[in-house]
Amino acid sequence: MTSLVLATRNKHKVEELSALLSELPLKILSFHDFPDMPDVVEDGATLEENAVKKANVVASFTGLPSLADDTGLEVEALDGAPGVRSARFAGEPPDWEANNRKLLSDLSGIEGSARAAAFRCVVALAVPGGEVRTVEGVTSGVILEAPRGEGGFGYDPLFLPDGHDLAYAEMRPDRKNAVSHRGKAIKAAQELVVALLGGE
Ligand code: IMP
Repeated sequence: MTSLVLATRNKHKVEELSALLSELPLKILSFHDFPDMPDVVEDGATLEENAVKKANVVASFTGLPSLADDTGLEVEALDGAPGVRSARFAGEPPDWEANNRKLLSDLSGIEGSARAAAFRCVVALAVPGGEVRTVEGVTSGVILEAPRGEGGFGYDPLFLPDGHDLAYAEMRPDRKNAVSHRGKAIKAAQELVVALLGGE
């Protein structure tokens, strides 16, 4: 069976990506299997650049096909910020709670549909010594006025996807995966995975 290495040290992402890829005939590996997997500096100007860089570095390091995602939260009232800087919105070191506090403070006084935002996820698939391809998934919603829910990670407590009553952090993992930017990107990536790696 073909192996695919997930190029992330974020255990929440490993869980989500593993669940989303579970129907494909692939052996999914992660930093649990490669504890020395290098940390990649995410200094690209776009989500695409960062996703490609992560997938390439891990494909070279492991000698195996590698899949990376880079995600940004794009808030309309903030001209698309935090975007590619989502991990470090409140500065170094990356801190999810500080990021959420800054987001709420930057949006204070802005109400209702003016709090529109979208999560954009770019997935890159790299084959060692071969090509890299990218696909993306987008989920639109609004930024809540206060955190809700205990699940997920990052900005999940503040994101209410359009057409749903539950914030990402209030959804069970399978529900979030069915609605989320990452779920959509992985769905789009499935054809790519089969095309580049074959089904066996
Ligand atoms: P990256 O893709 O790891 O660079 O993610 C950038 C930032 O977006 C991090 O702060 C993550 O916490 C946040 N983020 C990425 N994916 C999600 C998600 O599915 N829900 C909420 N926040 C996310």
